Amino acid sequence: MRAWNGEEFGVNRIAVSQTLRRLAAALTLSISGVVCAIAGAACAEPLFSFEGTPGKLPKTVVPIHYAIDLKPDIAGLALPGVEIVDIEVRAPTARLTLNAVNTTFAAVTVDDDTTRADIALDAGAETATFTFAQPLAIGAHRLRIEFAAQINKFDRGFFYVDYPTDNGTKRLLTSKLEPSDARRIFPCWDEPAFKARFALTVTVPRNFLAVGNMPVVRERPLESNLKQVAFATTPDMSTYLFVLTVGELERITAEVDGVTVGVVATAGKAAKGQFALDSGVKLLSWFNDYFGVKYPLPKLDLIAVPGGFGGAMENWGGITFFESRLLFDPATNPDSARRGIFGIIAHEMAHQWFGDLVTMAWWDNLWLNEGFATWMATKASEQFYPQWQSWLNGYAQKQYAMALDARRTSHPIQQPIADESEAMVAFDAITYNKGQALIRMLENYLGEAAFRDGIRAYMTAHAYGNTTTADLWQALESAAHKPVAGIAASFTEQDGVPLIKAETNCRGNDQRLTLRQNRFVIAPAGAAGLPPRDWQVPVAVGSLGGTQSRDVVLLEGAIEIPARSCGEPVKVNSGDIGYYRVEYGPVNGAALAKSMPRMSAADRVNFLADSWAMVAAGRAEPSSYLTLISSVSADDRRPVWDQVITVLTTLNRLARDRAEQPAVQRYARATLRPVFDRLGWDGSGSGDDDDTLLRASLIRVLGEFGDEEIIAGAKRRFAGFLQDLKSLPSALRDAVTHVVGITADRATYDTLLGLARKSTVTNERLRYYFAAAGARDASLAHATLALALTDEVPGTIATGLINSVAASGEQPDLAWDFLQQNYDTLLARQGPQFRDQFIANFMTNFSDDGHAAALAAFAPAQATSGGRVMVARATETIAISADLKARALPAVDAWIRQRN
Ligand SMILES: [Zn+2]
Repeated sequence: MRAWNGEEFGVNRIAVSQTLRRLAAALTLSISGVVCAIAGAACAEPLFSFEGTPGKLPKTVVPIHYAIDLKPDIAGLALPGVEIVDIEVRAPTARLTLNAVNTTFAAVTVDDDTTRADIALDAGAETATFTFAQPLAIGAHRLRIEFAAQINKFDRGFFYVDYPTDNGTKRLLTSKLEPSDARRIFPCWDEPAFKARFALTVTVPRNFLAVGNMPVVRERPLESNLKQVAFATTPDMSTYLFVLTVGELERITAEVDGVTVGVVATAGKAAKGQFALDSGVKLLSWFNDYFGVKYPLPKLDLIAVPGGFGGAMENWGGITFFESRLLFDPATNPDSARRGIFGIIAHEMAHQWFGDLVTMAWWDNLWLNEGFATWMATKASEQFYPQWQSWLNGYAQKQYAMALDARRTSHPIQQPIADESEAMVAFDAITYNKGQALIRMLENYLGEAAFRDGIRAYMTAHAYGNTTTADLWQALESAAHKPVAGIAASFTEQDGVPLIKAETNCRGNDQRLTLRQNRFVIAPAGAAGLPPRDWQVPVAVGSLGGTQSRDVVLLEGAIEIPARSCGEPVKVNSGDIGYYRVEYGPVNGAALAKSMPRMSAADRVNFLADSWAMVAAGRAEPSSYLTLISSVSADDRRPVWDQVITVLTTLNRLARDRAEQPAVQRYARATLRPVFDRLGWDGSGSGDDDDTLLRASLIRVLGEFGDEEIIAGAKRRFAGFLQDLKSLPSALRDAVTHVVGITADRATYDTLLGLARKSTVTNERLRYYFAAAGARDASLAHATLALALTDEVPGTIATGLINSVAASGEQPDLAWDFLQQNYDTLLARQGPQFRDQFIANFMTNFSDDGHAAALAAFAPAQATSGGRVMVARATETIAISADLKARALPAVDAWIRQRN
């Protein structure tokens, strides 16, 4: 169990008491194992109450309504503004503390212009405290704050993005505030439980379009080609959901159920938003029905931002996306890009209800937002595009979470969050992917209709409010009439992955299956053991073929059940729905291995992934997994081969600079080449089928593994592409360019950069920049690193390029030296997440003790508690890689030699 203490996290009293309550709950749980099922939600965390919500700001003053007037100085990168905040004082106080960062104050008054406040700033706590001569009485007051914030270079608060167009470089401004950067735009109570209404006005050039949470209600021309834009007032919402994007933008729209859905993009690009617009329209009516509460705002814009930040952000009524995640152009995108675009729109739109309308009270329940939205995106993709098989093809998300969750540095998906830096690092695979897997397992256990009814009741009961996880379990239990909290709490309130040992034995012709639970752990050799855990696990047991029924048993401790006739293979975690590992006894394991072709694809992926996980955990020899690969057929499904490719890529990475690498690469080529040869370079089909996607990923990895024919084929096709762009299908462009990039000489490298610089299409620019950054040649790697210091690419792309030099360019030491030498310059450009997250993540490109020590000695990475969490996780990752390398590579090498 992890030790929580106030010193480590610098927590306040509320957070400590919350922690103690959790600790008590966790202890009870691990002693008795079943308490929560009996006691219901009450044994876990309490239902939401404002007073009981953790946080740093005093709860004696709450904001009701902000009227904010911003006048961005676009050239000078300053953000002067005035805000009038209606507040409610709940206990008499002369001091009023709220959040602000990098903000200066001209004047703060209350109720009338004569009562001015003394202002004290605390940069560390990111607060401003206003002290008045007389205490404010209980009741309503009005604050007037004149301030100046900043327009940032990096993607926090309000920031600028410079982007290329046919008419030269243009600048737009946009915002990204989650978890706690609204305070970089305007002084505010910047914690999710302080919901309030927002009325915004902003002054911008007349040729700009301004997009906020709500529709524009008034535009008024001002002098010097400026205009003032006023937006309608929002309903009650959390500060982190505020949005403002301004620039030379255009918008396409459609009406659905009384709501205007729009796609906003930079001038000339909005037509590429048609697929996004159609998706938004479909999803809005489907979500209106699923949640049982209609989308409450009059409009919903999907905004394409051409750089500056990655991913997407669910601002209420104005979702921002990195441009290439939203726009689709059949001329430059493969058809399959629609899968990612639809998925990310579904994720962010699900948040409009789950997160925006009903909001987690504090960041310790971030998983409620993210686990649910991630699950809903996959569910919606299955609903509208069943041919994509999104659960099957997305199998790796759960695998990744389980790999992290098996470690000492994992964390419960509900975890205490003491400060902003910890909230920042909570956005990880455990929160998103384990959250998604848990919700899928619960929906499967409760039934689809009962689960949906519970969600509808939850939405209705908590609209415009805040919740804890306990509120959700209560709603689901009432709807499903089945205990939920006990099962759920065993997965949300403790970290770790259940290991289900499954053994069969025969009594006459009858077979019995024994299931016994344990804790699945991946730890470096010599590490101290982790404490045992008990879960309530819905375990699905099935026969082969996927069409026959499967039984779900709720496992606590151990159980023995009948399992068909003697010798018949029994598959556990049937359908790959559960969040647990399975270790089979020798007899059943061998029977299953022989029967792989009869399994459903989901079961084959699950069986292979569990088999490799046993190797990673030191519970099985690599030969057990490699033997299984031999029985995967060349015409098997994409996710099955994808699982194999992932393992071979890991082995190749670990073997860098080691004697085993030639043998590993030879084996990988020999294994994968027949799969590629079956597909060939030129397939027919829509470009959105699994064969097309598998072909592209095989070209990529076979190139990395040094397959000379594939490399030559890629170079030939790239040369043809330069002559005639249509000669290379868009589905293969990324993969072919990647292979050309890793083997590039100076002339090819310059060609790639030339293509990147010439294009105004974001996904094309990324393709060529990243291909160049993958060059293995050291002098080219130097050139890429130098580029990362310039303003040629946005900050988030620059860090991506540095990482590519280390990962696909295989020059990690060169990149690490560069990071240390240019640390201050990069920090100023990239912002705090460069220090708190990027450095630690970057170091996981290494797998040796020396670099683990170098990370531990790099003080800036540990400047915040969030940074220290990241360093601890990265250090463990490096140690686990080092251990796997020492253990597995010689065994893999011996197995390959023995086979030849
Ligand atoms: Zn999300």
